[in-house]
Amino acid sequence: MRSLTLVFIVGFLALGASGHTARAPVVVVDPGHDAHGNPETEPIGPGSSTRKIKDGGGTSGVVSGLGEAELNLRVSLQLRPLLERAGLRVVMTRTKTAGASMGNIARARIANRAGAALFLRIHADGSSDLGARGTHVLYPAFRRGWTDDVYAASKRAAIIVQAETRRALGFPDRGLQERSDFTGFNWADVPAILVEMGFMTNPTEDRLLATSAYQRRAAVGMCRGTLRFLGRSPVGCG
Ligand SMILES: [Zn+2]
Repeated sequence: MRSLTLVFIVGFLALGASGHTARAPVVVVDPGHDAHGNPETEPIGPGSSTRKIKDGGGTSGVVSGLGEAELNLRVSLQLRPLLERAGLRVVMTRTKTAGASMGNIARARIANRAGAALFLRIHADGSSDLGARGTHVLYPAFRRGWTDDVYAASKRAAIIVQAETRRALGFPDRGLQERSDFTGFNWADVPAILVEMGFMTNPTEDRLLATSAYQRRAAVGMCRGTLRFLGRSPVGCG
């Protein structure tokens, strides 16, 4: 009786281990924007008559002159190997800054097709108030038929990733924000969040975010948050 139980336990462990390796969760890393905006419009959710432009183009560094699209990509390219070393699979929505932005339905579809455990959208903010600063994370508002299936997990991811990213960067905590008007959220069938790392219109945060050291900090924070969201140890993120 006892040895039979042991055989079952060993069998389960072996199954679990092989399944784990073959089916590592996928994280879709989405560096926001691209070299150019995209003035075409698209429905903000499946079946919606409300349309928004595909991409307004993002912000840029008030001191550094760095484009947001390029900052988002640099952080994403630092994040990818951290997640991969931690045993996750990574799909990038783009790996260079070139041409018109693909728009947000296309980004969400990449995440849906990949069966992402997390659709991690990476941005930096801009404001006409140059004093505005800090880190915040956005997640989809609850809407039946659009986000009801991903609302709870997205919110949980937002809480964890906000805490880790804010801590890694040391910027003020602007908390979380629910958004019902984000096309990329409303089309997502997987948990989705959008990290606003800091404000490129704030001279202090722009100067810091333009350095590879702070881009690394942001990547480490998002890596830690992602792993904790997935129930894994964040130790390997650095
Ligand atoms: Zn942006």
